[in-house]
Amino acid sequence: MAERVFNFYPGPATLPLPVLEAAREELLSFQSTGMSVMEISHRSKQYENLQNETEARLKRLLNMGDNYKVLFLQGGASTQFAMIPMNFLSPEKTADYLVTGSFAKKAYQEVKSFGRAHLAVDTSSENYCRIPRPEEIKFSADPIYVHLTSNNTIYGTQWQTFPDCGGTPLIADMSSDLLSRSFDPEPFGLIYAGAQKNLGPAGVTIVIIREDLLAKANPDLPTMYRYETFAKNNSLYNTPPTFSIYMVSLVLKWLEDLGGVKQIEQMNKEKAALIYEAIDQSDGFYRGHAEKNSRSLMNVTFRLPSEELENKFVQEATAEGLIGLKGHRSVGGLRASIYNAMSYEGCKTLADFMKDFVAKNG
Ligand SMILES: *Cc1c(COP(=O)(O)O)cnc(C)c1O
Repeated sequence: MAERVFNFYPGPATLPLPVLEAAREELLSFQSTGMSVMEISHRSKQYENLQNETEARLKRLLNMGDNYKVLFLQGGASTQFAMIPMNFLSPEKTADYLVTGSFAKKAYQEVKSFGRAHLAVDTSSENYCRIPRPEEIKFSADPIYVHLTSNNTIYGTQWQTFPDCGGTPLIADMSSDLLSRSFDPEPFGLIYAGAQKNLGPAGVTIVIIREDLLAKANPDLPTMYRYETFAKNNSLYNTPPTFSIYMVSLVLKWLEDLGGVKQIEQMNKEKAALIYEAIDQSDGFYRGHAEKNSRSLMNVTFRLPSEELENKFVQEATAEGLIGLKGHRSVGGLRASIYNAMSYEGCKTLADFMKDFVAKNG
């Protein structure tokens, strides 16, 4: 079998090796049932226990109380862009959007079918290279919620501290950094994330919703578009993506065994520092896309002096087993996605490769 590479793809992304091994181990017989977890009824006790345990583990890791409910949905984070305004807005109500990247913009653009969207800040004129300063954010008079994207996967920027929205519920797309660092859940009314970056494989979208916000959701929606349907039925109204949820449960267990979010945050800081240091010590050979105080611990974006050198970099890195480094077309250059599952060794290997590449081509 081919050796495993260092996988820097932005998503779907690398998973922890112990998780893949555990899944392999019980692929044919889940918990001695003689069936794969893919083959078991979602109404079985074994499956229901697994899902309940996954919810409990996630809330434990995030330090969340009983006033939050974890929902397991499908349709990706992108479906949430519409489902959120559908549930909480109406034509005479307004929601505020902080547009710091293209996913944030997509979320903003979905609102108009359901209510009013107020653009509280927009950094597109700077190609989303930074997180806005607090004084740049202009909230509307009485927003129903404030929406932001905690980590801008494409641009490599990340909110370092979340803006103060008074008592207005904050809604966050945390698709690319949920469980990578600790934060106070209190201001958040809803948090959502597609699993395929930091939580598991594609196929399940995690929605964490606070009860007081859930209570305000629009009841006049088709059944499958109501958060209430999932909340009331323990995400078992219809068939959930059972295998993806199973994989998420293994990732959460791996994270708990590792020491939890505080521990992984420290590790993520050390990993990212290796690569940012290689950028900063290159005498301008590498140019980071993100402003320094907006740098993401999850996605490191950088350019080289020419596109030719960027292509050469990708080619030679690939040959060394450093995979998935080509940046998104809207930024160009390179992007190293270094989610929780990326090892220190992977980041160190990349940083060493970067230094070596400057020495030969700088
Ligand atoms: C990847 C990503 C999305 C899109 O997720 P899908 O599950 O593909 O819909 C949305 N927001 C952020 C921040 C992302 O990184």
